[in-house]
Amino acid sequence: MANSKYEYVKQYELDDTLLPGCWIVVRIDGKGFTKFCDVHGFEKPNDKRALDLMDACAAAVMTEFPEIRLAYGESDEYSFVLPRSTDMYGRRASKIVSLIVSCFTANYVARWPEHLPGTPLASTPMFDGRAVCYPLDSHLRDYLSWRQADTHVNNQYNTCFWALVKSGKTPTEAQATLKGTLSGFKNELLFREFGINYAHLPEQFKKGSVVVRQKAMVEVKQREDGSPVLRERALPAILHCDIIGDGFWQERPHLLA
Ligand code: ATP
Ligand code: ATP
Ligand code: MG
Ligand code: MG
Ligand code: MG
Ligand code: MG
Repeated sequence: MANSKYEYVKQYELDDTLLPGCWIVVRIDGKGFTKFCDVHGFEKPNDKRALDLMDACAAAVMTEFPEIRLAYGESDEYSFVLPRSTDMYGRRASKIVSLIVSCFTANYVARWPEHLPGTPLASTPMFDGRAVCYPLDSHLRDYLSWRQADTHVNNQYNTCFWALVKSGKTPTEAQATLKGTLSGFKNELLFREFGINYAHLPEQFKKGSVVVRQKAMVEVKQREDGSPVLRERALPAILHCDIIGDGFWQERPHLLA
């Protein structure tokens, strides 16, 4: 086909190919979720319904894009890991990020009524996204450890903060009580003042969510007599386990292969 005189504008599109041979991590994060939580009356510090919705959306993204190796989520964010060898959309950053973000967001809206029945969506949920390349396996491990350590620190702080606020302190007073305190002090405060044993809080709150593919038997069709035909498929499974230590990785050597 002959080029039109307008076609030169195509040259202004810049190459955004992600470095070959590196792990690709796409992290998405909810826009203005502090307000979004407030507007929709999320339970503080952790609304399990909203966390389950995030997890369901991440599993849907992994089903849509089989190239994704694993995902890790906490709060209003999720990280998706693509293997070093991936050729998804020619490793073009804007293609990969925009498709993951829109797949996640569309699922968030579509699945909202199932997870928060009786709470109408009052504003438009939006997520930002970025892609980062990591050359070494140790970088990827450290990235995921960084996010899981963040989950713990935030959850411990938020659990204390909201316990203080719910007991009658103003947010400013609660903040002042916690300023500069160590982990041990916060655990002690929760136990002494509020009878909360931090260790007994749900793993989903303390550890966040890991999505991996696990083999499961799935009905693919029915025989004439109505009996199911089962096949083994690798389906996204949501775990709330430690990924900082070596155990998780030793049990799943294929993840870093
Ligand atoms: P930005 O647009 O810069 O990301 P933000 O308001 O979303 O702004 P974040 O740092 O992403 O800021 O923080 C998200 C906020 O949403 C935190 O305060 C977190 O506690 C809250 N939040 C997210 N998910 C839940 C949930 N399931 N239950 C209760 N609070 C939640
Ligand atoms: P890719 O993922 O590469 O974009 P694609 O199938 O979306 O693949 P496009 O080049 O974007 O390819 O083409 C979109 C197709 O959708 C075209 O065939 C176009 O005619 C069709 N299409 C889009 N909107 C409409 C519409 N409103 N009514 C009928 N056809 C439509
Ligand atoms: Mg942010
Ligand atoms: Mg956010
Ligand atoms: Mg966030
Ligand atoms: Mg198209």
